[in-house]
Amino acid sequence: MAARVIDGKAVGAAVRARVAEEVAAYEAERGRTPLLVTVIVGDDPASEIYVRNKHRACEEAGMRSAHHGLPAGTSENELLELVGELGVDRDVDGILVQLPVPDQIDPDRVVAAIDPAKDVDGLTPVNAGLLAHGMPGLVPCTPAGVMELLRHEGIELEGAEAVVVGRSKLVGVPVSRLLLAANATVTMCHSRTRDLAEVCRRGDVLVAAAGVPGLLGADAVKPGAVVIDVGTNRTDDGLRGDVDFEAAAGVAGAISPVPGGVGPMTIAMLLVNTVAAARARV
Ligand code: NAP
Repeated sequence: MAARVIDGKAVGAAVRARVAEEVAAYEAERGRTPLLVTVIVGDDPASEIYVRNKHRACEEAGMRSAHHGLPAGTSENELLELVGELGVDRDVDGILVQLPVPDQIDPDRVVAAIDPAKDVDGLTPVNAGLLAHGMPGLVPCTPAGVMELLRHEGIELEGAEAVVVGRSKLVGVPVSRLLLAANATVTMCHSRTRDLAEVCRRGDVLVAAAGVPGLLGADAVKPGAVVIDVGTNRTDDGLRGDVDFEAAAGVAGAISPVPGGVGPMTIAMLLVNTVAAARARV
C-alpha cells in the first residue's frame, strides 16, 4: 500500500478539543453554555445511536444538550409546532431533527421550518442558498468535515481538479460548493455519468459519496490523488466505503478509511456549528 491513511479519528478529536476551548471562552464571556436540542420521531435504532453519540460529544466538549423523542405516529403539524417552539426559545442554540422521519412527515417541510440561525445541520434552504451564493452561513456537517480533513492534510485546492461522486443535498452538492469556493475545478458525477472511472481519474482530489459499497476501484484513482470516502454502507462484511480501499490505496497518495475517516468528522463539525450558532446570536 502506497497511500497515506488519513486519520479522521485524530483530526476529529483535535477539532473537538478546539471546540471545548471555545465553549469555555464563550461561557466566560456570556455566562451561559451553548445548548443543542435533538429531535427523533419514531424508534429507528440507527437514529438512536447517532443521536446518543451526538449527546456524548456535546457533553465531552462541555456543551449542554437536550432531546425530544416523539412517537412514530407524530403528525407533521405536531413536529412543525415543536420545531417552531425551539426556534423562538432563547435558550436553544442548535436544532437537529434526525432524519429519516416517518412517511406521514415531509422531511423538506420540516427542515425548511428550522430557524436558519439554529440550523446546525446546515440543511435549510436558507443555509443551502447562502452556501450557493458563497456567503457565510451554517455548512452541512459531513461536507464541512471533508474540507477539514483536506485542510488538515495540507492539500492545495486552488486550481486542483476535484471530482465528487454523488449530488445529494446532504453531501455531494454542498461538498462541491465548498471545493469550488476553495478555487478547485469541480466535476460532479452521479448515477447517469458515463464512464465514471475515467471521469474520476481526472481528480487530484476524489470525494466519493454515492452510497454504493466498493463502487470506485484502482481504475478510478489518479496516481497520487487524495481520496476522501464519505460512503458508509452496512454490508455482510461490516461497514464499507464507496471506495475499494485496498485497491485504491495502491494508487492514491492519501486515502480516508471507512470507518475512521469522514465519520468522526461529522459529529465534530456539528459541535463547531453549535458553538458558531451560539456565538452569532446577539
Ligand atoms: P444519496 O442521497 O442516496 O445520494 C447518492 C448520490 O450518489 C446520488 O446523487 C446518486 O446519483 C449517486 N450515485 C448512486 N449510485 C451511483 C453510481 N453507481 N454511480 C455514480 N453515482 C451514483 O446519499 P447521500 O445521503 O449523499 O450519502 C452518500 C453516502 O455517504 C452513503 O453511503 C451515506 O451513508 C454516506 N454518508 C456518510 C456520512 C458520514 O457521516 N460519514 C454522512 C452522510 C452520508 P443520482 O442523483 O443520479 O441518483
